[in-house]
Amino acid sequence: MDLPLFDVAPGLARRPFISLAARPTPVERVPALGERVWAKRDDVVSPRYGGNKVRRWEWLLGLARSKGARRIVTVGGLGSTQVTSLCVHGHAEGFEVDAVLFDQPWTPFVDEALLLDERADGHLLKAGGYLRTAFKTIGVLRGEPKALFVPPGASTPLLNVAYVDALLELAAQVERGEVPRPDRIIVACGSGGTAVGLALGAAILGWPTVVTAVRITDLLVSNPLTLRALLSGTQRLLRREGLTRPVARPRLEMDHRFIGGGYGFSTPEAELGARRYGEVFGAAGEVTYSGKAMAALERIVAERPGETLLFWNTLSTTGREPRG
Ligand SMILES: *Cc1c(COP(=O)(O)O)cnc(C)c1O
Repeated sequence: MDLPLFDVAPGLARRPFISLAARPTPVERVPALGERVWAKRDDVVSPRYGGNKVRRWEWLLGLARSKGARRIVTVGGLGSTQVTSLCVHGHAEGFEVDAVLFDQPWTPFVDEALLLDERADGHLLKAGGYLRTAFKTIGVLRGEPKALFVPPGASTPLLNVAYVDALLELAAQVERGEVPRPDRIIVACGSGGTAVGLALGAAILGWPTVVTAVRITDLLVSNPLTLRALLSGTQRLLRREGLTRPVARPRLEMDHRFIGGGYGFSTPEAELGARRYGEVFGAAGEVTYSGKAMAALERIVAERPGETLLFWNTLSTTGREPRG
């Protein structure tokens, strides 16, 4: 595998890596949303199950395999796409995946996620509230001392480099004239690794592009301080791995307007956004991630008529359960 990231931080080429993504993911115009709106289709990054965790698992599963770990333990909400994606890709690569799940508001998408987790032989432990989830997770890890632990959201400096590379992939598509360089990238923001990676990638290239991180989880988990810590941690890792060029100040903004009652809680805008997502991308949207990101996109299209906008699609449209 030869990633554009290896030109920027050559040391990363020596890190363990398992190739999972179909590169490059398509870029396309979305006329239904406006003349200057484009999408980056990470929803189709893998036929098994797409979305924005797949590029991270290339590094994570590579690390797990190099350490001889057979088992991976993670934590997420009942309908967490991070959990589904890890169950699917971990299983396909021969790992056992344990997931400790905390409660979230029930939606049809939660049912779908649980079904996909079970189909991929995920070992699911439904723990209840956050505190019980923390205790249960400690218990599982005690019983499995050799397991690799993936924190909720899976945004660590090593995994965040996946989206620095994804931005460089976009830059090559811009260079080839497949898509204009966006003034702004709109992306759902949970634990923040995707938005941070993209903003850092743009800063490395000296692009003036702003990344708007649409907050879809609670402020305690995702806020300007956590994003800044992820930015500096990821940048430090890149420097250790050979990044020598000067990096401009990353242009990362948070949009807090669409979170409503918190992670997984629906809002009228998220319902509308989920429906729009389905119309545009041809697979059901949901209210936790895509509905809120889509609501933000539509608002920003109206607020910023002069800007070229790129919606970075983080929700899988592949490997999903069709429902009627
Ligand atoms: C994980 C996820 C996000 C959030 O990504 P972060 O990098 O954790 O901010 C957004 N959308 C979907 C569909 C996800 O699975």
